[in-house]
Formats: sequence, structure tokens, C-alpha cells
Amino acid sequence: MGSTPNGAFPRRNPASRTVFSSILAHGPSSRGDVARRTGLSAASVTKSVRPLLAAGFLQEGDAAGGSVGRPVRELRVRPEAAWFAGVKVTGDEVVGTLTNLSGVALASGRLPLRSPRVRTVVSRISAAVRKLRDHAGGELAAACVAVSGEVERDTGLVRFSPFLDWHDVPLAELVEASLGISTVVENDVRALTLAESTTGAGVGASVLVVVTIGTGIGCGIVVDGRVLSGAHGVVGELGHIPLGDPATPCYCGGHGCVEAVAADPAIVRRVSQATGVPLSTIAEAAELARSGGPAAKVFADAGATLGRALATVANLVGPDRIIVSGEGLAVYDLFAEHVRTAFVDQAYGSAVQCTMVLQPHSFEDWALGAAAVARDAFLRGRTRDAVGASRLSR
Ligand SMILES: [Zn+2]
Repeated sequence: MGSTPNGAFPRRNPASRTVFSSILAHGPSSRGDVARRTGLSAASVTKSVRPLLAAGFLQEGDAAGGSVGRPVRELRVRPEAAWFAGVKVTGDEVVGTLTNLSGVALASGRLPLRSPRVRTVVSRISAAVRKLRDHAGGELAAACVAVSGEVERDTGLVRFSPFLDWHDVPLAELVEASLGISTVVENDVRALTLAESTTGAGVGASVLVVVTIGTGIGCGIVVDGRVLSGAHGVVGELGHIPLGDPATPCYCGGHGCVEAVAADPAIVRRVSQATGVPLSTIAEAAELARSGGPAAKVFADAGATLGRALATVANLVGPDRIIVSGEGLAVYDLFAEHVRTAFVDQAYGSAVQCTMVLQPHSFEDWALGAAAVARDAFLRGRTRDAVGASRLSR
């Protein structure tokens, strides 16, 4: 590929950022279209477009006849003006995806992860991003690493990741030091949610909720185009709302959490207890449940708890759409009816009208979400050359 912008993105110019975001979201547009959509004056749009054209982030199409006879030139994003790498860290792999400025995936790759030690993970992430950079044939504008758990995007800190067993790891700083590329970190479900709202099944929803089910239960929430991130890095912890039996302890220290009833490990444990058959995987538990009996009752209870959780988030934020994803979709047939019944029972009034979409995602899709966060951070001026100095000095 090998093409780079002629200059820096005008990130200190809010009007230029607004104009650029509008063209990014709506596709090729005339200056008049942009003025109408953004509420900026025609003169202000013309002025804001100039540095974007000069730096190579926008390009002008051929002149076409306008309504009053003057030629109108369409403005379009120059996709090859910047590249972004997104990396999703799983229990045994790092998965990377390269995107261009339009958010289109250009390449993906996976590397095995043999240990959750911070140094090992940072080295694998760096290797994955370097491969993507080689593919781009030019410098990357920014990278993002998506990790499950409590992640603070502003400070670059992974506060707590249960399945990596990490506490207070300054991941953005470590990856930046290794790669020399502006790097942000984000909670993996929030990253996936951003990609779904900008280029996926959530496009057009003003309030969007993405719920992931499986090993854990995650939730991302978009309101007016922004993914909520919470004042302390915690938001949408649907898995830790106490809608199950209050006697059931959760690893978080709480009791009756949705995750302690409806996540895969809880279901496997409860099916083993109910049937007396020692099981180790959700697939084994599902197989038993498909012939009915106490195993099916465990799945029914998990489904009903999940349905109450979805109704809770619908009642709280009023989404027009809820996207359900995650590896738990593989056994969703055992939940579906119970989820729906509990959701309808508990959704308040017209909250029940929100549509529910089942949308499987590959790990490459999750990595695409991380790349969407990298692009968002770059366009908002939230990457290292803008805020890194203050972040690193904390
Ligand atoms: Zn909990």
C-alpha cells in the first residue's frame, strides 16, 4: 500500500474535526451537505476543509453541476491517509486487525500466547502490530489493545483483568515503549461496541446496547454516538447485577450476580451438581440439557436470568437495539425462549419494543473493534502526541 498523509491531522481545530467526522459517517458530501448536517456556516466549512485537503485526509471529486449551475465538488475521505492496528488479547492468542481511515479491515493475523505474563503478552502484541505495519507499508497512526476487565482508556491502565490475572498493568505505556506507536487500551466489549455502532449491526441506533455472553457476561452502551466509559472505568457491568439467587457467591465478592448464574462456568458447575455427572465444558452441559431433565432446568434458569438482565438494561437506558453476541450464542437455542419470556415480563412499558439481534463475532471482529478505538482516539486527539506526555507523567 505505502501512502501516507502530507501533514498532520488538524486535531486542535474542533470545526475541522466536526467536518471530517461528518464526511466519515455519511460518505462523500458537498460542502453544502456538510454545512446543513453540522450547523456550521458555509464559510466555516470551507475554512475547516482546507487543512484536511492540504494534509491529505480528504480529497475532492470531479466537479459536477450544482442546482444553481455552479460546479459542486464532492469531498471524500482518503482511506489510505492513515492506518490503525487493533489487537484483541484472548486467553491463548493475540489477534490483530489492520484498518484504513475508513475503518475497512485490510489484514488480520493471530499469534499464540503461551503465558499471561505481562512481558510475554506485550512482546506478542508488539509482534502482531509489527506484522500489520509491514502489511500497511507505512507508519501506523495509532494502535489499540482490547482486554477484558476493568480498563481505563484515559490512563492506559488495565486495573483488573480476571482471566489474565492482571492488576494495575500500565499496558498502553508498555506497548508504546516497545513499538514507538501511539497506543490506547480499552475494555474489549466497549471496543466491539464502538465498531458495531459505527460500521456494524448497530449503525443508525441512537441508543445501542451490545451484550456478550459466554465465559463472562459483558455489556457496552452507546448513547448519542458515544460509548459510555464510566467515571472509574466501570460501566455496563451487566454480569454483576444481582438478579440471581442471593445465596450464590460471585468471584467479584458480590452475591446472586448474573454471571454467577448465566455465564458458561456457572452453568457447567450447576449442571454437574444437578445431574451428578462431572462435566468440564459448556458443550457437554448443553448436550445433557437437550434431552431435558435437571440440566435443561439449569439452562432455563440461566436464560431467565439473562432475560431479566436485558430488561434491566432496556429499562435503564432505553436502547432501540440490543445486539447479543459472544461464544455463548453456540448454546443460545437452550436459552432463547426463557430469555424472551423473562425480558417481556420485566421490560417496562414500551422498553419492550427494542429489537434484539443475535450477531456472532469472530476474534478478528473484536480486533476490528480495537482498531475502531485507535481511529477514534486519533481523530479526537486522544493519542500520545496529544495527551501522552501528561498520561506518562502520572
Ligand atoms: Zn459478580
